[in-house]
Parts: sequence; structure tokens; C-alpha cells
Amino acid sequence: MEALVRAQEAAAPDVGRGRLAEYIPSLAAVDPRQFGMAIASCDGQVHAIGDADVRFSVQSISKVFTLALVIAAEGELIWERVSREPSGNPFNSLLQLDQEAGRPRNPFINAGALVVTDRLHSLTGDACGALRDLMRSESGRTDVGIDREVARSELAAGHRTSALAHLLASYGNLECPVEQVISQYAGQCALSMSCRELALAGLFLASDGVLSDSTRLLTARQTKRVNAVMLTCGTYDSAGEFAYRVGLPAKSGVGGGILAVIPDRGVACVWSPALGSSGSSAAGLAALDAFTTYSDWTVF
Ligand code: GLN
Repeated sequence: MEALVRAQEAAAPDVGRGRLAEYIPSLAAVDPRQFGMAIASCDGQVHAIGDADVRFSVQSISKVFTLALVIAAEGELIWERVSREPSGNPFNSLLQLDQEAGRPRNPFINAGALVVTDRLHSLTGDACGALRDLMRSESGRTDVGIDREVARSELAAGHRTSALAHLLASYGNLECPVEQVISQYAGQCALSMSCRELALAGLFLASDGVLSDSTRLLTARQTKRVNAVMLTCGTYDSAGEFAYRVGLPAKSGVGGGILAVIPDRGVACVWSPALGSSGSSAAGLAALDAFTTYSDWTVF
């Protein structure tokens, strides 16, 4: 696919440029000079380039899938506990959560994702397991799983996450024991998947909520709403810049992956570990910018 080649070329100057997520020691050990990208189209075809089959830590990309699972289970009740406005603040900000009395701005910053995971854990008894099963069935790979070393590394160094979880609990916005929520959250972030697997796993977001076996996870209306929240909140305090340059609903993670949805067309997933200032892959942003510029896979 010509647009993938152009995307890789456009990203090349940024590959390896930026910082790794040093606050999670295991992620700081990843080779930053890697780059991969995969496009899965709604008809099931996949095009890939570079390191598209290398598994990486999905980190916050997991938050889209946990949100989808919670909405699938009980509709839109989660919005009673989490707002859906861009935060304009770093993804791990404590100040905003305290100022807003324990109600996270959106489900994609860490505070909001903790509430979603808390709810998923209440609903299923095993939030990580529910997420892993969805990822396995949608990617078609039964060996998709959690990298226990990354989870352990995040738990050992995750003081801000613990602080956020305790702050949420102090405002009565967690149902499960705090330590359980933190450990489920670290586990979901430590899921290890490739660009190809993630693009396939996200296809229901481009297909009105319909899964690979033709059953439905979300209604078309719910899918539209999840994509809308990705567009406004999926890349944290650079969501405006991301929308300006790429113009797609997307979710990034500090492992260097970005998942972007082109409704009714397909899903793009790009990975390159070095991060720009707000915690999204610098080369990934450049690649998606070029991809939507040189292809008709756009919404605008
Ligand atoms: N696990 C990471 C954290 O909690 C996820 C952050 C991210 O990918 N933006 O800090």
C-alpha cells in the first residue's frame, strides 16, 4: 500500500527521537529505533510495514477496549462516574482530579481509566481477563497476553497511579479495593500486542460495533460515541494538535503505540517507542499525519 510507504518515509526522521516512558523501568529498556504500522480494513485485509509484527506494551490503548467492554455490559452508566471532556492536562494529573472532587475528566486519562477498570472488575470479577479474551478473539491470536514483567515494573514504580486510585477512593469513586484496581490497571496496560494484532482487535470500532464473528459488542450509536471521545480525549493534552494533524479518533499509549479509527473503512495502528512531550509516539504522529494526507482514509 503506497500510503503506508509514504507514512514510513515521513516518520523516519522522528524514529528514535524523543524519550521513552522512563517512569516504567521495563519500557525504558525498549530499543527506540523501531517502527511498525498496520492497516486493517473492514473487509478483513491487513497491510503492514516495518516492525508491524513486533509486540509492544499497549499501555493506554487498552483504555478504549475496557471502556467498550463496560458500555457493552451495562450501557452508558459509566458517565455517572466519569466525564467526557478533554482534560487539557497531563494524563496522570492529580490536581484536576482533586479540584473536580474525584470525578475524572474523561475515561482515557489515568484517573478515568481506573474508574472504568474498577467497574469492569466489578462486572466480570476479572477485568484483565475480560480484556485479554476480547483481544485474543479479535486478533485471532490465542497467545496474546500480559507481559508480567512490565506489569510488575509499573506496579513497583507506579506512585502516581496509586495516588490517583487512593484519591478516587477518598471521594467514593471506586467500588473494588484500591490495591485490586491498581493491579488490574497495571495488568491491562501491560498487555503485549503487535500493530497487526491491535489493528484487527480495534476493527469493531470502524464497523459500527460488530465483532469478527459477526456478533455485536456495541450498538452503532455507542460505537460512534466511543470514537467521539477518542477524537477529543484520546491523545491527552495534545488532542487538539493530533486532530489538526491527523484528524482521526485515536488512542495513544506510552509504549509508543497509536490506534486510529477510520469509520467504515478500517483501523490503523502505528508503533515507534520514542515519545513526544505529551506522551504519544512522535514518529507515530508523523506517520498518521502523512497517512491521512496521502490516502483517502480520512474523516475530514
Ligand atoms: N500505564 C501507564 C500509566 O499509568 C499508561 C499511561 C499511558 O499510556 N499514557 O502511566
